[in-house]
Formats: sequence, C-alpha cells, structure tokens
Amino acid sequence: MSSLSRPTAVRGPALTFTGDPFRDGLDRTMVHEPDAIVVMQDGLITQFGPAARIAPLLPAGTPVRDFGRDALISAGFIDTHVHFPQMPMIASYGTQLLDWLERYTFPAELKFADRTYTRQVARRFLQETLRNGITTSCVYCTVHAHSADILFEEAEALGLRLAAGKILMDCNAPEALRDTAQSAYDESRALILKWHGRGRLLYAITPRFAGTSSREQLEAAGALWREHPDCLMQTHLAETEAEVAWIKELFPERASYLDVYDHYGLCRKRAVFGHGIWLGDDELQRLHEADAAIAHCPTSNFFLGSGMFDITRAIRANRPVRVGLGTDIGAGTSFSILQTLNEAYKAAQLNRHPLSAAHAYYLATRGSAAAMHLEDKVGSIAPGMEADLVVLDMRSTPLIAFRMDEARDFAEQLFVQMILGDDRAVQATYVAGRPAYSR
Ligand SMILES: [Zn+2]
Repeated sequence: MSSLSRPTAVRGPALTFTGDPFRDGLDRTMVHEPDAIVVMQDGLITQFGPAARIAPLLPAGTPVRDFGRDALISAGFIDTHVHFPQMPMIASYGTQLLDWLERYTFPAELKFADRTYTRQVARRFLQETLRNGITTSCVYCTVHAHSADILFEEAEALGLRLAAGKILMDCNAPEALRDTAQSAYDESRALILKWHGRGRLLYAITPRFAGTSSREQLEAAGALWREHPDCLMQTHLAETEAEVAWIKELFPERASYLDVYDHYGLCRKRAVFGHGIWLGDDELQRLHEADAAIAHCPTSNFFLGSGMFDITRAIRANRPVRVGLGTDIGAGTSFSILQTLNEAYKAAQLNRHPLSAAHAYYLATRGSAAAMHLEDKVGSIAPGMEADLVVLDMRSTPLIAFRMDEARDFAEQLFVQMILGDDRAVQATYVAGRPAYSR
C-alpha cells in the first residue's frame, strides 16, 4: 500500500488493554470506551479514543463505519496453538492423545502429500479463522515442507500476521510422515530464509513433540534456532499423564519433560509450549526464567480428556509464566475464541479460581500476543499498532439479546458473550486496516 493511502475509521464501543491485568489489575490496564473511533492508515492504527475527541480531528471525507452501540470493537483475536491440517478431522470420536494421533491425526496428515488438497484446506482454514475474528495464529503444518509454503502463500495474499512451521518428526510415526534430523534442518532452514520476516509472516521451528523426534533431531532443531533466534519455536509439552510417562521412558537421562527440550536449547524466549497441564513447580519456574510461554487449549483438553490447566498456578506472581490461548484444532472443538474462553472459564472453575471476562479477553488478545512476544505489534488498540480488529455483535442470537437486557454492567455483558457467543457474534474482521470478513 502506498503511504498516500487515505485513512479509514470504525466507530463503536471498544475494549482493549494497555498492560497485563493479571499482574497490574484491571483498573490500570483495561480501556473500555463506550463510543470510540479507531482510525487506520497504511495497515496501522493511527488514532484511537472517544468519538467526541477523535471525530473533529478526522480529515474531511474520511469514511467512518459506525457499528452502533450494540457492537464491541476489539483487537483481533490471537490463536497461539492450532494445526491447520487437522481441520478435516475435527470432532473425531473416542480416544485420548497418543491413540488419537495414531488413529486419526497421522492418517489425516498423510493426505497433505497432495499440494492441491493442501491448498484447499489452507484456504478454508484461513477463511474460518477470519470468520471467528482471529487475525493472528501460530500454526503447525505437516511434515511436508510444501504444507508450510502453501499456508504462507495464502496468508501473505490476505496480509495476515501469522507464524507457522513444518513439523519435525523422525520417529514413532508412519514412514511416509517421517523426515530425518538432516532433512528437518535443511527444509526448515530454507523455509526460514524464504518466509521469516517477509511482510508480516514469521517462522516457527516446529518439532511436534519429544515423542516423535530423536535426540539427533532435537539437537538439529536447537542448532537451527540458535542460528535464527528471532524465529518462534513451538512444540507440545505435558498434555496428558500417559504422554509424560512415555517421555520419561524415552529420555530417562533427563530430569523432567521440559528438561528434554531445555537440554537441546529449545526452552527460551519465543518458545510456545502447547498445553503444559502436567508440569512440576520446577518446570514452571524454568519456563518463567526462560521467558517462554504456554498455550492454554481448553476445548482440546476437555475433548481428549487430557486435564484442566490451572492458569492461576501458571501465572503465580512470584514466577509468572506467559500464557496464551489456543484452539488446538483438530483436538480442539471450536474455531470460536468466545467458545474457547467459555471452556477456559470451566477449566479455571475446576481449579477453584474463576476467570473474569475482562481477564479472559486480555488472554484472547494482548495476552496471546505477549505469549508470542508480539505485544508491540498486535493484540491491542493503540496508535502505532497493526490495524487488526474484530467487531463483535453483542446481540447475535435471540437468547443473547434477551440475556443482555438483564445485564447490569459491562463486565456482565462481556461474560454473557464468552459463555453464549460463537462465530455468529463476529460481525466484521479487519486485517491491516482492510475489511477481511463481514457477516
Ligand atoms: Zn496441538
């Protein structure tokens, strides 16, 4: 886009965060503006504030889309853990993690040897994220290098800020889905050189998990990350008890599950570990020291019967760990971030610590941006931030409209949305200032 592009604006109630409410409290971090204008130009937010203050400053003729008082403008939602090739197998019955990989996931991922199929699914996946107001995702592809290439091509065409990587997997998987330590290194490196930092795209080095990578491959992944430290690194960690026991058998020489990754240089800033349900205090301490993150994926955790992640424990004030939110499609059961927050609330309830709606919206936006170390670019509404927005309709179903009439305050209205709302609540999605989806 040329620097001469004209500004555009959206108007309506808005919610955003200037910091971490878990650490600093809602009073100091939450901004709720009942009638706001967000001005966007050249992909960035240029102004944000009360309509009464911003409207007189707009250049004559600036188009302003007014969503009305029943809307809510937020920074676009962020999904810190998702598998695009698992979209065709979402809602597969009856097994827990390790059997589920064998019975459903590996057969589904074998189909991605076909590039045409890969592109069809990648397109469908990105459209579905936009329908749900998700503007940034951290995505697992398959072992095939072209699965990452194709996803990046499609994301680039949409102007999305997105991180992704080809899976590294050289053991305990079907022959046709295995790479080697060397090919994993070579193919990932080529993808990094091609895509990392191109436009808004980022590369995530992606060993599936310690159960499907040899020591040699973990070593290669660590070397690659040392050579390209600005990349993200994503993998799975302590999702189920059976998995934790198996990793202990595979790596008896290591002190803990996290220590396997740490030993190979895979635990530091910009690491995003999926799940982290069954971690010891020493492991949480290490994640804190390393400034690494956990992706909390509650719909998946309940669906596979993996456990209930205790967010209060993870973010404990004396050693807070960065926590983002993930849909974990296809073990996760919804692309809707509102439905994911619904399940995050239930996970917190089972740990006897309710999760307030405002804290939950922070997790879905700025908190998840922070988990990816992107909070200076996306996840909040402020001048200089990238102009990725979701506009919610706060009366999207008859039941929600009825319930909203009874809500006494904004906190209650927000909570109703995250418990009852879903994709129908997403009225519009903006990517880099441009409308990318409209209901
Ligand atoms: Zn996953």
